[in-house]
Amino acid sequence: MNDLKTGVVVVGAGNAAFAAALAAREQGSDVIMLERAPFDERGGNSRYTAGAMRVAFNGAQDLAKLMDLNDEEMTTVDFGTYSTDQYFDDMARMTQYRADPDLVEILVYKSFETLVWMREKGIRFSPSYGRQAFKVDGKFKFWGGLAVEVVGGGPGLIDDWTQSAKKNQIEILYGTRATDLIEDEGIITGVRVRKGGKSYNIHAAAIVLAAGGFESNAEWRTRYMGPGWDLAKVRGTRFNMGDGIRMALDVGAIPYGNWSGGHAVGWDRNAPDYGDLSVGDNFQKHSYPLGIMVNATGRRFVDEGADFRNYTYAKYGRVILEQPGQFAWQVFDAKVSALLRDEYRIREVTKVTANTIEELAAKLDDVDAGAFVNEVEAYNAAVKTDVPFNPAVKDGRRTEGLAVPKSNWANQLDTPPFEAYAITCGITFTFGGVKIDGSGQILDTEGQSIPGLYAAGEMVGGLFYFNYPGGTGLTSGAVFGRLAGNSAGTAAVSQT
Ligand SMILES: Cc1cc2nc3c(=O)[nH]c(=O)nc-3n(C[C@H](O)[C@H](O)[C@H](O)COP(=O)(O)OP(=O)(O)OC[C@H]3O[C@@H](n4cnc5c(N)ncnc54)[C@H](O)[C@@H]3O)c2cc1C
Repeated sequence: MNDLKTGVVVVGAGNAAFAAALAAREQGSDVIMLERAPFDERGGNSRYTAGAMRVAFNGAQDLAKLMDLNDEEMTTVDFGTYSTDQYFDDMARMTQYRADPDLVEILVYKSFETLVWMREKGIRFSPSYGRQAFKVDGKFKFWGGLAVEVVGGGPGLIDDWTQSAKKNQIEILYGTRATDLIEDEGIITGVRVRKGGKSYNIHAAAIVLAAGGFESNAEWRTRYMGPGWDLAKVRGTRFNMGDGIRMALDVGAIPYGNWSGGHAVGWDRNAPDYGDLSVGDNFQKHSYPLGIMVNATGRRFVDEGADFRNYTYAKYGRVILEQPGQFAWQVFDAKVSALLRDEYRIREVTKVTANTIEELAAKLDDVDAGAFVNEVEAYNAAVKTDVPFNPAVKDGRRTEGLAVPKSNWANQLDTPPFEAYAITCGITFTFGGVKIDGSGQILDTEGQSIPGLYAAGEMVGGLFYFNYPGGTGLTSGAVFGRLAGNSAGTAAVSQT
């Protein structure tokens, strides 16, 4: 293999990488993207998503700048608003006030303009009626600050980005793994890659690392997140092994953020060890606020209705991992079964049904059946039925007197048929990474930026701690990818 030379190399070909590559190209630089995965498995975690993107917006007028909305949608749908203050507050609250305020400010204030830019680059958006709205009095009402999704979900996003990259003469080298950075007197001047058992160098004026976190690496997960994390299923790509983070640390980058934390959810107990692109994110089971969850002892263990699912789902994976046997069952009755998200109706689901709670108890694999029946009885007796049920708002219909309360959407389990779904912990991505400055450049252990080296996406540390507001991963990848790409492209052009 001969060595190559270009302006900017982007390591990765997920959402953050594409945003970086197109932004660098916009500055006039030549760009090469490296994708470790073969073509069929391209697109990283971004391709596994449903494409939900959290963006600050001021009602339907703003959304109309991101997507085509017809007159009826403009006038009858209640999209609500999601102000920059709300976004900032959600990031602060979710992360227990540990998120780096400088990074959060960039994320929040650049979210809307970045999605407008993405639209200009060919990404198509639509309202997320299916997952983020309930019909109230015949009208759609959005909840939880998340109204925008990419048309075609993650696969649509990667297809649109790929088209756009092609149109802009950006070359993508598939099956090509970046292994090391090339350094000359403290300046990053290229990257060493491996393809088909052979290694070669690509020399460049700037490198953007957008190679994801270390979620696909069981050894790193156990090392940094703790015992048990080797047992989690991986929701997405098998290629995010921490390569980008390791390469940056090797040249002196400072580790940053919540290295023992990650985004993890309730995921089908019998799902494969890594994501399956034909199922995408449908192994997740996110309608637990409408029912209850029990563990092997037959007991509830978490407040299923503590908040909208957007604000609890990403931390409940860890709670499920901590249960005996690392599993739980979600239980619903016929009153809410029509409200369950689409992912409950897929073929690849671990589900049992029954006409009585006793009959259901006998079907819950690995659960203490007697204790479960008692638990449902106690739960049913504790529900405050005088408060009306409304899934589109935090309705305050709660339990009273239980050691583990349910704070909203508490309905008695009394209407057959009953349904139960077995879940375990599925890890989405890791929170620890490297530190960047306001231009997307990686900082070293002395607090100095490393010339020629930028980062974006999952591998940027300091944004998420403990928890995460749904739909922020893609937005942060796009915002920081575009930022890093702009800076890298500008640096590359100024050197020619
Ligand atoms: C099932 C699922 C559903 C999700 N749903 C949503 C959602 O709806 N909304 C949302 O905002 N977020 C969602 N997320 C989170 C979201 O996917 C990520 O936060 C985001 O896509 C990360 O983008 P990224 O570009 O940083 O990483 P990725 O998209 O994972 O891209 C990283 C890329 O780097 C490549 N790579 C790794 N190592 C190397 C190497 N050494 N050399 C070359 N290439 C390398 C990988 O192959 C990959 O292409 C979901 C995640 C999963 C798994």
